[in-house]
Amino acid sequence: MDHFQLKDGVLHAEDVSLRRIAEEVGTPVYIYSRATLARHARVFRDALGALDNPHIAFAVKANPNLAVLRILASEGYGADVVSGGELTRALKAGMKPEDIVFSGVGKTHAELLQGLEAGIGQFNIESEEEGYELAAIAQRHGKRAACALRVNPDVDARTHEKISTGKSENKFGVPLDRAADIFARLAREDGLEMRGVAVHIGSQLSTLEPLETAFGKVGALIEELRAAGCSVTHADLGGGLGVPYKAGEQLPSPAEYGAMVARVTKDWGVRLMFEPGRVIAGNAGVLLTRVIRAKRSGNGPPFVVVDAAMNDLARPAMYGAWHDFDAVQPTGDRMTAHIVGPICETGDTFAMDRECDALVAGDLAVFRTAGAYGATMASSYNSRGFVAETLVDGDRYAVVADRIAADAIMDAERVPDWLT
Ligand SMILES: *Cc1c(COP(=O)(O)O)cnc(C)c1O
Repeated sequence: MDHFQLKDGVLHAEDVSLRRIAEEVGTPVYIYSRATLARHARVFRDALGALDNPHIAFAVKANPNLAVLRILASEGYGADVVSGGELTRALKAGMKPEDIVFSGVGKTHAELLQGLEAGIGQFNIESEEEGYELAAIAQRHGKRAACALRVNPDVDARTHEKISTGKSENKFGVPLDRAADIFARLAREDGLEMRGVAVHIGSQLSTLEPLETAFGKVGALIEELRAAGCSVTHADLGGGLGVPYKAGEQLPSPAEYGAMVARVTKDWGVRLMFEPGRVIAGNAGVLLTRVIRAKRSGNGPPFVVVDAAMNDLARPAMYGAWHDFDAVQPTGDRMTAHIVGPICETGDTFAMDRECDALVAGDLAVFRTAGAYGATMASSYNSRGFVAETLVDGDRYAVVADRIAADAIMDAERVPDWLT
């Protein structure tokens, strides 16, 4: 459930009319709902109610906006970060260092050091090589890094290939059949406190079976590790729960996920950790756009050209993803159209042959479910600026990320003297 609803015929975020935000901030603009974010955070936590003190770390890459992170921090969430930049953001947003998990296959020396100096709660080590590098840095600085070893369970998450991470051919984690040996060797390093295992098989999962299969393999690994004399006190089950992108679409609920986790992990005797991203933020945001013009083309449906483009919302171009597209003031009339942005690339297509609200030039519309992997993936392709972000709270809203104009981006460019 989200808080983007029609009121008196106009789409609102909570109690703020999207027309008002368009007039005051301009379009395209992302709009997040605080009540929806908080609600999703609570629903997910409640779904894990049968577990003993689970640790929940929001996957910052899904929506790294400082205001969004602040809301989740106040809901008791920690952060799962995958870069030094995300770590800096999580700390700035008020997340406690000990609640931060550092994931990622390519943490640099500088990033490992940054995490150690910040005193983060856990590093999810993705290779034996990374483990030795972290151990050396930790020893040199008189520290001990709490770590989980990320395993690749070779499970097909049955999601889009670009966001599948748990197949043996994917770059993430260490192979399951080598994990026990690697764990035991790393556990002998003075700089490391090897305390757990981690798994994350992909994003936008639409069934629970691949997760259950992966968790089963993690459970077997924990037994194997303990039989070999290793201590395992933590298990990080990652993120990945999908969200409905189409009205009426049925996906496993957080409650079903929580029940499955409780059943599969009941004898593990560890503190469980989670890294949800999309399920918290996805339906807590929309991308508001204005129709530039509708263009007739051949005999097919018209092209509705909107002022948002693939640089603002990359998911359709990148993953062929579907986003529901609705008018801000629907008249009841419908049309079939191709929905495209202005960028000079055919990939800049949000939808083909889409049945949607009838729209004419100047009308406002939203792409729904844009709160995760939306603004964070924006670029300035075609010398378009960076899209603005706003946060609604009841009957008020604030700009939580300024629009960065193309001119400001150009200010960072230099023409060397020897070209003038
Ligand atoms: C992306 C990612 C997540 C979050 O995935 P969602 O599908 O958004 O829940 C969690 N953990 C890791 C390691 C990730 O890379």
